[in-house]
Order: sequence, then C-alpha cells, then structure tokens
Amino acid sequence: MASIQAYLIYNTYELKKDAFINETRKAISRLDDETELIVRTSEAWGEVFADLLWQYRFEGLSKTQFLEDLRIQGDSLSSAFNALYQDELKKSNLDFEVKFKKNIYSIMVLDSTTIDTVAIYSTDRPLFILGEDFEESEGYTISQARWQTDYTAADVDGIDRMLEFRVHTKDRMNISEWQRIVLGRMATLLAGSVLLLLFVVGLFYYSIKNLIKQKKVADVKTDFINNITHELKTPLATLGIATKSLKNPEIRQSPDALENTLDILDRQNTRLQKLIDQVLTNSLGSEELTLKKEEVIDDEYVMNSIADFSLSVQHKNVALTTSIEPKKVLLKIDTFLFTTALFNILENAIKYGGESVTIHVATTLKDNKYEIQISDDGVGIPRAHLTSIFDKFYRVTSGNVHDVKGLGLGLYYTKQVIDAHQGTIAVESEPDRGTTFSITIPANS
Ligand code: ADP
Repeated sequence: MASIQAYLIYNTYELKKDAFINETRKAISRLDDETELIVRTSEAWGEVFADLLWQYRFEGLSKTQFLEDLRIQGDSLSSAFNALYQDELKKSNLDFEVKFKKNIYSIMVLDSTTIDTVAIYSTDRPLFILGEDFEESEGYTISQARWQTDYTAADVDGIDRMLEFRVHTKDRMNISEWQRIVLGRMATLLAGSVLLLLFVVGLFYYSIKNLIKQKKVADVKTDFINNITHELKTPLATLGIATKSLKNPEIRQSPDALENTLDILDRQNTRLQKLIDQVLTNSLGSEELTLKKEEVIDDEYVMNSIADFSLSVQHKNVALTTSIEPKKVLLKIDTFLFTTALFNILENAIKYGGESVTIHVATTLKDNKYEIQISDDGVGIPRAHLTSIFDKFYRVTSGNVHDVKGLGLGLYYTKQVIDAHQGTIAVESEPDRGTTFSITIPANS
C-alpha cells in the first residue's frame, strides 16, 4: 500500500516536473525569439563569432587564440546580455530564477574540398560562450541549432573572401529552485497522501486492536463455558448418586441414612439454584441495576454484614479483624446489592486465602467520601491481571489459583453495584502477600 502510494507520488512528481520544465522552456524560448534586444545581442554575438572565425581562416589567427578571443568577446557580451535577460524575465510571468546560456558543441570550416574541424566538444563538456555558466547536469536544453552559413569580408588587400562554416549550438537554462516549485505544486497531493496513509495506518491499528479484543472475549467465553460446565457437573453427579441410593431398599429402611441422603439432595439442589442465580443476576450491566436505596449508619451496617458473613464461614481458619471509622456516617445504599458486593470480596478473600487467612476490614471518611478497605494475606494477584479482574468472566488462570472454583462473575458484579452507587473500586495486590480492595462511595453526612 505504502509502496504503491510512493510509486504514484514519484510518477506524479516526474510528470509535474516534466510539465514544469516544458512550460518554462516555452516561456524562455518565446523570450529568446520575441524580445528584440535579446535577439539583437544574439545576432551581435553571431557577428563577432563569424568575424573571429574568418580571421582564423584567412588571417593566421591561431586556433588557441581564436578560442581565447571568442571567450573574451563572449564574456564582454554576456554581462550586458545577462542584465537584459533578467530584466525581460522579470517582465514575463515567471516568478522564479532562470539562468540562460549558449554552448557550442562543434565548429567546422568548410572549404570546397575539405572540412576543417576547428573544435568539437562532448555533450557534457561543451564550450560555454554566452550567458551565465552553470553545471551541465543542472540544466535543460531550450533549443538547439545546427547552422551552416557564410560570411564575407575584405582581407588586407581589399579582396573579398568568403568563409563557409557549420556550427552546432544549444541554448540551455537552469532553474535553481525547480524542486521546491514542483513540490509546491504537489502540496495538496502530498498532504492528501499523508492523510490517507495516516488513515490507513489508523484503521489497521484499530482493526488489529479489535481483533485482539475479540480474541480475548472469545477466550474468556470459552473459559466461562468450561468453568460453568465444571461447576454444574459436581452437584449433578452428587444428585445422581443420591437419587440412585434412594432406590436402595437398605437406605430407605434406615431413617438416618434417608435423612442424610435427602439433606444431600437438598444441598446440591440449593447449590445448583445458587449457581443459576449467580449467572442470571451477575450478567446484568450496571445500567440495568435499579437501586432500592435505604439510609444506614455506617458502623452498624458494616459490623452486621461482617457478623452475617462470619456465620456463613465455618470450615476454614479465618481471622476477621476490623477498624471502623469513629464518626457516625450516614450512607445511602441498596443494602441487598451492596451486601452482596461486599460478600463477593470477602468470599474471594477466603477462596484465594490459602490454608488460613486473616481478613481486615477498615472504614474511613475522607472529604465526604466513605472508604471501605478489605485486605487479606492470601495468594495475591499478579500485576498483569489486576486491570482485568473486574471484567465479566475473567479469572486468573495461572499458578495455584487455578484449582479454586469460580465463574469470574463475582468481581464483575461487585463493580457494577459500586458503579451504580456512583462509587469506585480499586485493587492493590502483591503475589504471595495479599490483596486489598478499596471501595469508595459518597457519604451523606
Ligand atoms: P471467581 O472468584 O468466580 O473466579 P471473581 O470475579 O470473583 O471470580 O474474581 C476474579 C478473579 O480475581 C479470580 O478468579 C481470582 O483469580 C482473582 N481474585 C479475586 N479476589 C482475589 C483475592 N482476594 N486474592 C487473590 N485473587 C483474587
């Protein structure tokens, strides 16, 4: 794509350059042909040239002297000629600098029988004779002429002698700033190309980003399906075994065993129910959450919630400590949703807490903002995962966290609830040291 564009730009540049050179060439040759003074100076040079050549042919002027004289005469004509030329250029519409020069490529004197090649020059090193000199490689030919003519003059004895000669000349020009001018004419195209290129690069970047994002979402969904299948399998398997055992007459006859099996059925049923509920409720976005706010006093609410939570924790070595804001702070929250959000964090602290865990809950009031910090000394979360753990279905799948069951919905749901309360939730963690979640909500004091 970029190379095609570069190729097109280069082509346009070449075309524009050619067009520009042609245009200038036309304007300059018009100047040469139509400006009387310039024509006259050119003619004057022609006379001088013919006269010197005549002297070379008939009056014993050496070739070196002839060329030297030609140069000297050319120089003296040039200064007048150049001034004239620049004046005329200014009058014409060309608003850039052009240098003009005349070169000779060959001079031949023709006799009735022989040809005397006086001088011959290669294209890249011709003889400069009129105008302003410049490097051959930096110039363009305006026109070239191969002319053959004769010139008659009287010699010392008063006898007319005719000289016939042939000359090859070229008029050449040099435009000092042609690159700038051509590029200037291409400015819109160049700017357009750059914009197009930026646009394409932007689009490319955006597509790749989107692709990565979609891949991530797809991976996360696959993970979720795997997790939920795994989560559902265990209670279903237990239910299956329990139902089968009910068919066993031995168990049916023993009231204790029957009671026990029914308990298992009940528990697994509740577990399945809970799982389904979790998926249903937690899939909601924050905009779909309607809050039924109540006013609560901070310490009462937090302490009660912790007490309720402690009741549900039985079989693990858990130490729960608190430090509560001394001021009575009025909070306006949907207690049901907010408690679920807190429980999600507390449950995680236990789930990812290892063998035994210490959980500390601290609350503070700062600038009308009420902050609840829940810290644990569990396995922690690697830095790379910290920004994603609030995403739907996201689970940290590395290290020893792998075998803890879950759907990756808890923290997502928690964040939805906190967002709906116009609050914020942040996390800090260090692997193997522990994790701290900080919830901030507006206080109504
Ligand atoms: P789940 O617990 O069902 O996997 P969550 O949304 O509650 O889903 O948590 C997302 C992930 O964040 C978890 O899989 C876990 O890896 C990590 N995580 C959450 N809380 C903690 C914690 N207190 N300590 C260590 N890791 C945690």
